[in-house]
Amino acid sequence: MAFNMDPKKCPMPAQDPQVRRHNFEEVALGYTAEMAVNEAKRCIHCKNRPCVEGCPVGIKIPEFIAQVAEGDFEAAYQIISEDSALPAVCGRVCPQESQCEGKCVRGGKGEPVAIGRVERFVADWAAEQGIANVATAQITYAARDSEYDGKRIRKGEIMSLENGKIVATSNDLTKAAYRLARSMCRKDSSFVTVISGCDVSDEDAERTTEIIKAKCPSHVEVSHIRGGQPVYYYMISVE
Ligand code: SF4
Repeated sequence: MAFNMDPKKCPMPAQDPQVRRHNFEEVALGYTAEMAVNEAKRCIHCKNRPCVEGCPVGIKIPEFIAQVAEGDFEAAYQIISEDSALPAVCGRVCPQESQCEGKCVRGGKGEPVAIGRVERFVADWAAEQGIANVATAQITYAARDSEYDGKRIRKGEIMSLENGKIVATSNDLTKAAYRLARSMCRKDSSFVTVISGCDVSDEDAERTTEIIKAKCPSHVEVSHIRGGQPVYYYMISVE
């Protein structure tokens, strides 16, 4: 396999600001398959695997990246799933610059391999194929007065989003979180993960997690991770 020795990461496409002003979808659009393969080819498969040491859950990074480079995205997803249940979330909110990518040897003379972006691509691809049994949603706020689907939304209002669509609005962050988590739970759901953003204190996140626990069916295990992500007060994942 030919390596890609470009010192820079493949850029992540993003919505044009003029388009972004009129929707609530993610600003970063994610890699295409071609971009993901191209970026994966920047990995030189170091024997000592320093990137794995930098990953808090020890994802087998060179192995999954190698599958992406070969275009076998399902194999890549299976390898990630051995160590992580939340690649779509981690690919978006983990501070990769101080974790896996911070240890990547390609970062010595250029930019590290964009491990997070490739992980996000694999997770989104698996969700599109119906392979990933994980649903994710976000809670954020309206940055301006606007109108969406014929409904007026006031600046500062709290919005629950699924697939970039507003499914509820509220003035109470805790209520928005437990209502969203409860609506996402199906009979066969086993785990809810609440990932709190940088604008939510640990105390508030723990309290919200406890309320979600009380509102969800008793067989569902609810846990909290401090993600520290900007923009989203909470990202909620149900599997
Ligand atoms: S450190 Fe970077 S180049 Fe080396 S195996 Fe990990 S991702 Fe690939």
